[in-house]
Amino acid sequence: MKWLASCWLLATGYLGFAQTLPVIPQPQSVVFEGESLPIAGKLNVSATQAVQGEADLLRTWWKTTSQGANGGSVSAELRIIDGVPAEEYALKVSPGKIVVAGGSAAAVFYGIQTLIQAEAGQKSLPGMTVRDQPAFAYRGMHLDVCRHFFDVSFVKRYLDLMAEHKMNRFHWHLTEDQGWRIEIKRYPRLTEVGAWREASQIGPYGDQRFDSTRYGGFYTQNEVREIVSYADARHITVVPEIELPGHARAALAAYPQLSCRGAELPVATGWGVFDDVYCAGDDRVFTFLEDVLDEVLALFPSEYIHIGGDECPKARWHDCAKCQARLKAEGLADEHALQSYFIRRIECYLNSRGRQIIGWDEILEGGLAPNATVMSWRGEAGGIAAAKSGHDAIMTPGTPCYWDHYQSKEPGEPHAIGGFNPVESVFLYNPLPAELSAEEAKHILGAQANLWTEYILTPEQAEYMILPRQFALAEVLWTGPRRAEDLPEFRIRATQRSRALKARGFNVAPHFLIPESIVQDHHEAK
Ligand SMILES: [Zn+2]
Repeated sequence: MKWLASCWLLATGYLGFAQTLPVIPQPQSVVFEGESLPIAGKLNVSATQAVQGEADLLRTWWKTTSQGANGGSVSAELRIIDGVPAEEYALKVSPGKIVVAGGSAAAVFYGIQTLIQAEAGQKSLPGMTVRDQPAFAYRGMHLDVCRHFFDVSFVKRYLDLMAEHKMNRFHWHLTEDQGWRIEIKRYPRLTEVGAWREASQIGPYGDQRFDSTRYGGFYTQNEVREIVSYADARHITVVPEIELPGHARAALAAYPQLSCRGAELPVATGWGVFDDVYCAGDDRVFTFLEDVLDEVLALFPSEYIHIGGDECPKARWHDCAKCQARLKAEGLADEHALQSYFIRRIECYLNSRGRQIIGWDEILEGGLAPNATVMSWRGEAGGIAAAKSGHDAIMTPGTPCYWDHYQSKEPGEPHAIGGFNPVESVFLYNPLPAELSAEEAKHILGAQANLWTEYILTPEQAEYMILPRQFALAEVLWTGPRRAEDLPEFRIRATQRSRALKARGFNVAPHFLIPESIVQDHHEAK
């Protein structure tokens, strides 16, 4: 019970708004000054054309929060300031007036998010000046919709959580061995066949148990546009992932001629890594992938396209006459170099269309494609190697960024793939490895949490796995790397934030949070 007592002491200062705002991520600078502003009366918003969406957001929030309470008139001014960094904003709350100004519409949006959280159920805003900007440019969340499918309404909910915590890159994992989830008009069998599996593995991997239920789903191109536009309104870029050359069993079930052996194989029903992958020696494979990517590029404005590149066994390539002929013709040393050839060829295609590739860190093997960005998942070594060779990298090391891992060792947790990534370790994660020089560290764009869904079956379970860990990652990526002594105060804000999200129906894991009664008692004492 000792930590509860120390939290109590910290809470005394905290809840009096002495140092921090009840906001996640915590802004860089908050100066409390003057009187608070009651959320009451009529709000008049003046905003330029570029921030009309933000003006609507502010009006809607004011109306919902004030619930028609009487008060004087309040003016709000939203504007973009030229020459200020794109995500930097300043926010001033004074009697009768709110001003949010920033380097772009995104910055103004973030200022409003700060405002919304700062209200914290109090029906007023403290008088204050906030100056704020992010520590990292890439603040990502990933969602695997292939092992289990999540519908449009849940993806929007996921994007809401990201936006509220000032995260800006949604990595949408759309193709896998166990399901192809995006409509491609030129290849209808990808979703007619590839989006459905005849059974699913259930329970712990070692049990090798399966149900007998047909399972699947996919997004139509209209639904994809709807998601991209929803994300855009929240200043989130959607980075689609089309996996190649491995994790392709769903595509190969639809079009068997794209594999080395041409054998008819079902969409995978179990988890893991499979030997059958796209043939690297057959030009029909590249034609297919370029056609698919053409439709993907038309849907996603993102500069980055994720091409996977991980976990591609080389057994089939080793035994395939076409692959061996390619290896010889291109003067490649081995199958690792053949994988590198595959990635470079796709990169070249995407670069010619003005896009850049991101790949999992296996794309380093056999030589990195010239302009590729590396997503470092097998620890940080891949990200470090990329940065040292002048390539950009995004940190997503399994520890602590894989949130399909357990967050508590208490009994009764939903079955997970393994691992242990509690909120504390996410909070203390520093995406900048100590061994990088200042110049090399500039190549670390940020970090991302990954939600693989072999063992995550429902939206409720997905929310449980990301909350409250997302609070910790958002704080690291926006506010900057944290220290152990920051944890007790963060725990209080995380508890407050959780309460707000739970009131909206989100499923938040309880382990990191302070018991409700303690926070409640304190409010009463205040
Ligand atoms: Zn082959």
